Amino acid sequence: MKLYNTLTRTRDDFVTHEPGKCRMYTCGPTVYHFAHIGNLRTYIMEDVLDKYLRYSGYDVTRCMNITDVGHLTSDADTGEDKMLKGAKREHKTVMEIARFYTDAFFADCAKLNIRKPEIVVPATSYVERFIRMIEVLVDKGYAYLSGGNVYFDTSKLDNYYVFGNQSAEDLAVGVREGVEADDAKRNAADFALWFTKSKFEDQELKWESPWGLGYPGWHIECSAIALENLGEYLDLHCGGVDNAFPHHTNEIAQSEAYVGHPWCSHWFHVLHLNTASGKMSKSSGEFLTLSLLEEKGYDPMVYRLFCLGSHYRKSLVFSWEGMDSTKTAYQKLVARIAALDPEDKTEADPSAVGELKARFAAAMDNDLNTALAVTALYDVLKAKIGDAAKLALIADFDTVLSLNLIPAAQKAREAAKQTEKQTENAAQDGLAVVCLTEGLDDSFTAEVEALIRERADAKKKKDFAEADKIRAHLSEMGVTLKDGKESVSWEKA
Ligand code: AMP
Ligand code: ZN
Repeated sequence: MKLYNTLTRTRDDFVTHEPGKCRMYTCGPTVYHFAHIGNLRTYIMEDVLDKYLRYSGYDVTRCMNITDVGHLTSDADTGEDKMLKGAKREHKTVMEIARFYTDAFFADCAKLNIRKPEIVVPATSYVERFIRMIEVLVDKGYAYLSGGNVYFDTSKLDNYYVFGNQSAEDLAVGVREGVEADDAKRNAADFALWFTKSKFEDQELKWESPWGLGYPGWHIECSAIALENLGEYLDLHCGGVDNAFPHHTNEIAQSEAYVGHPWCSHWFHVLHLNTASGKMSKSSGEFLTLSLLEEKGYDPMVYRLFCLGSHYRKSLVFSWEGMDSTKTAYQKLVARIAALDPEDKTEADPSAVGELKARFAAAMDNDLNTALAVTALYDVLKAKIGDAAKLALIADFDTVLSLNLIPAAQKAREAAKQTEKQTENAAQDGLAVVCLTEGLDDSFTAEVEALIRERADAKKKKDFAEADKIRAHLSEMGVTLKDGKESVSWEKA
């Protein structure tokens, strides 16, 4: 597989330290607010990569941190602690905020079919390990105590700017509006590993350390969590593009200083989702959430398809028009799959099936070209291989794309059967039964419809007592009826 590597700035062959095994690390969310759909774009693309590596035969172990302490509103070790900011906004404790938004994050992930990594570590559960790692860095001469804080000394490295596209100018923090330079640092690029002194004395979570009561910097958490759970050699590290500098640059500095050799061979960065007015940002408080998309009538799968439709290394502009056309595309795709006959017995030509599978793999092997991988689904639909083979291939590709295609098609098939049955019944007794509530269980709908027809029958026979009894029973089920001339419409409260 060719996969762009931010470290080499080329599309490298993806190779792991130990053949067949992939140790993958993902920077997790800062849990002080809901994830926005930009964050979720990054997690969707990482999920597809994770699943495709498994599909290709890798034994993947994936680890993710949860940032519940120490992530500052400015990446330059200044500003306000994001967790504290969230707690103040909602008048809750930092841990309450962390728990609530961690759950909310994984609930969004579940809706988007994003697999939860097997190892998930909240930073607050690892503070002792951070302290041990910082102690080693101090002992090795890579870190120093100054002004009460412990800093990493970037001048000790031959090449701190590993990703190449940053410069000392990025660190001219003193000139940035509202950000003060930190006089305790020896070099402008140095970053804090442990804080005991900061601008926000009301920091809620503090731990004892050899340098005094304080709390860890943000970057140390990913290095320590990755090293502890995935070992000294990491195959793949992922995050959004904003993580590359300074967060990942600092992770590399700390980890390599600690282990004494190159650490992670492949860096995967997802470009941002923007709105027409600019970058989506959690800290500005103005952002779109998955719940909002759902409120506006978009299935989370539509957003997943919207993301898969563009390459992860291109910025993606969110628009409602884009969502509308993706919604139509998704519905049409599901309808075409629903039209396939699962009972079909046509023998498929194995070479034609193999060729379709190869097309899907070629797209994914080409730097995770998910848009092309989605078109491989349409190739399957057009192919002459019989419906059962088509369904099997679509199910196979969907283990990676995770668009719920087979269950959604099955649901569409059942809904079509239901409508057919209703039309048949209506033709028999001349009564149209219309359900006005969406998303109800099929068996519930069928039961209600049967009762409505029984009631109509009773009325026809002038057995009004029986008709009223049925109506009362329906009412107990939360169903209200509206009688029309030759129809009954109903809704469920
Ligand atoms: P955070 O919760 O802010 O730590 O971010 C979680 C993940 O989302 C990180 O990998 C970020 O790099 C990524 N991210 C942040 N903003 C965006 C955006 N607008 N589009 C895509 N990914 C983003
Ligand atoms: Zn990280």
